[in-house]
Amino acid sequence: MQRRVVLGTIVTLGALTMAAAAYQAPAAPKSIDIVKVKDNLYVLTSSTPGNPATFSGGNVAVFITDRGVTLVDTKLAGWGQAVLDKLKTVTDKPVTTIINTHTHGDHTGNNAFFGASVEIVAQENTKTNMARMDAFKGDNARFLPSKTYKDKMTMGSGKDRIDLYYFGPAHTNGDTFVVFPALRVLHTGDAFAWKDGPLCDRGNGGSCVSFPQTLSKLASTLKNIDVVIPGHSPLQTPKDVQEYQRFTADLLAHAQAAIKAGQSVDDATASFKVDTYPGYKNERVKGSIQAVYDELKK
Ligand SMILES: [Zn+2]
Repeated sequence: MQRRVVLGTIVTLGALTMAAAAYQAPAAPKSIDIVKVKDNLYVLTSSTPGNPATFSGGNVAVFITDRGVTLVDTKLAGWGQAVLDKLKTVTDKPVTTIINTHTHGDHTGNNAFFGASVEIVAQENTKTNMARMDAFKGDNARFLPSKTYKDKMTMGSGKDRIDLYYFGPAHTNGDTFVVFPALRVLHTGDAFAWKDGPLCDRGNGGSCVSFPQTLSKLASTLKNIDVVIPGHSPLQTPKDVQEYQRFTADLLAHAQAAIKAGQSVDDATASFKVDTYPGYKNERVKGSIQAVYDELKK
């Protein structure tokens, strides 16, 4: 009895000591890497998921114009100051516009940090999806997009022009493709996040069944592009986007055939080979195949 009480006290003390240690440990300073794409266009990277100490959220495009800075996406909540610190190393202009490529918290997490005076833009379905997030409830609804569009929208003109396109469901049902025509650069958001199975967020209207079609509309519409900024990996080219379109089409056809043959998701995943796609991983293929099954077998 006595012994049990003592043991309990030791365990409690141990837990308290650990909690105190965790509280007192100096937080590592958050730092984000930056890559120059053109004279007035940068990417804030540190966008590879996995390690919470270095994962700041999706790739953020920083477009610097005479008027101010446009950010494409705003990374994870808590990384706003790190974004601002890095911005200050390349410009002293204020952030005037934010484009959210889609609803997820690793792309919309610092809308509030940059404030309500910034114009926030997104595809209309993304605004609807964002309004359902806790981060944008109540008072924070003022950090939702104030400007939306359905299929295409142009902002600014000449060298400052930005074109926004929506081509249908893929990662979500509100994925914006952002084009800087004067620079021939495209930001794909997570409709091309990495060289691996796509994440299709069905809860936000995403579709691994529509994914290949959406990317083929992108490829046939956008011709004058040299550089592609993907959601969560290093800079790519239009050829990489075309290859990803083929990858998502192959994956869909493979899953459809497996469903027809009565195979399980595990069997379908095991027999899908990524070897023909150089540099591709298959860490997320099972999730993509599962998403096709869920969508087609409902
Ligand atoms: Zn996402």
